Amino acid sequence: MENALDRVTQKIVEADDLKLLEHVDTYGYVCHGHACGVRVFPRSYRPENLQRPHFSLPKGQAHAPDCDVKGEDDLRARGKKGSIAKELETSPGLSPASLRLIETRVITDPIATPAGAHAQGGSRSATTGDALQKPAGRRAANSIRPICRAFLEFPYDRHLPLQIDGVQTTTYQTVFKKLRSEGVEAFPQQRIFYAELAWTAAQEHDDRLIIPLDAGEWMDKRLVRPYCIVVQWAEWTQTARTRLKNELEIARQENMAAKKARADERTYLFVIGAQNPEDLSQFVVSDQRLICTVHDHLVFPKQQ
Ligand SMILES: [Zn+2]
Repeated sequence: MENALDRVTQKIVEADDLKLLEHVDTYGYVCHGHACGVRVFPRSYRPENLQRPHFSLPKGQAHAPDCDVKGEDDLRARGKKGSIAKELETSPGLSPASLRLIETRVITDPIATPAGAHAQGGSRSATTGDALQKPAGRRAANSIRPICRAFLEFPYDRHLPLQIDGVQTTTYQTVFKKLRSEGVEAFPQQRIFYAELAWTAAQEHDDRLIIPLDAGEWMDKRLVRPYCIVVQWAEWTQTARTRLKNELEIARQENMAAKKARADERTYLFVIGAQNPEDLSQFVVSDQRLICTVHDHLVFPKQQ
């Protein structure tokens, strides 16, 4: 499972985002499926783990019979072939409606009450007995990761609304902008920019990490001026730096392996960053919630 419900805040948490926390309460998560609530345990969430983080059920445990999270894999498979917009409207875990950057400590504070989680208009009741009540619909995400995942997973549902502060466009289709290989372009509007990750490893400096992408300006079949993501990480903790470096290394390896195996999947890097006016090949980002990698098959259905 890629996400679970935080028992304290009653918010859905992405497994990948656990790597951003200084402390992970391994007993703090349950399945967010309707009428389920089976305890799930975070796995591979330590920054040094060389596997993507996830949640799993203890051995011998099962989801409740009516749990809809169980059905999410079927939905994902259907979503690759056609629109499942109706189902996405009632599945909080699959297709976020907006990006809301809240402080991560809200999620970790052990004495936090669920009250904070309800101030933002969720339909969940504050009492634990009702905690498994089905949420009304698509939720907000606390990082771009679940949004980027949904973009790749549901190619026939990119007409769904998506609200991100600072981005003028309002659907999945229009919020995302692929960086191409026909020279370096200027992008006056903020978008979620993305491209396939390059095979070359990121360059590490004290104050920044430079991640090359497999897009930009080509000459004589060589990428002479790749787009790069410049992560300004001077203020980051060592944990946060290690987490990103590890994710990038996992991502680079899985991308190379997929290409060598001639698989359809590739690893894409997504970012909300400021294009450097002095060097348009650079996008600068400093918030770790605004950069991520996702491994999937990128599809553009014909009718869109
Ligand atoms: Zn469940």
